Amino acid sequence: MSDCIFCSIVAGSTAADLVWSDHQTVAFLDARPVFKGHVLVVPRQHHATLADLPGGLVAPVFAVARRISAALPGALGCQGSFIGVNNTVSQSVPHLHVHVVPRTRGDGLRGFFWPRTRYASAAESADYAGRIRAALDRAAATPPGD
Ligand code: AMP
Repeated sequence: MSDCIFCSIVAGSTAADLVWSDHQTVAFLDARPVFKGHVLVVPRQHHATLADLPGGLVAPVFAVARRISAALPGALGCQGSFIGVNNTVSQSVPHLHVHVVPRTRGDGLRGFFWPRTRYASAAESADYAGRIRAALDRAAATPPGD
């Protein structure tokens, strides 16, 4: 897409600190990292959200996220990582990207730990689970992206 900054990075028209490139994916440093070494993994093809990503690209994109997450401790001395995807809400670039954020105990990151609530009862949680299962059953006939 011509006005997409991540398509521009994929095309090589916008500079980025690349850490991975293959025929389906590119990964580069987030320009405003949560912690230094924060990586974004993107499909080369423009797809806005995870729901839009064709089924055949899910494994390639997440395999690269997994590979980077495995490499970060050796590369940076961190202990682990946080993997996240914003879909539409809080998504500032509408080209799917998987955040791989290096984590170290005591690093002070609190922002990813959202306020938690509780279900009022077992019946309420069962109702939520049932509604999600029903939607998955309806979608099963036409899996997204397959
Ligand atoms: P999100 O808010 O989940 O959509 O994340 C988008 C991320 O893209 C943000 O963390 C930005 O810092 C990052 N970002 C935006 N433009 C660029 C760019 N040109 N190069 C690298 N990272 C970028």
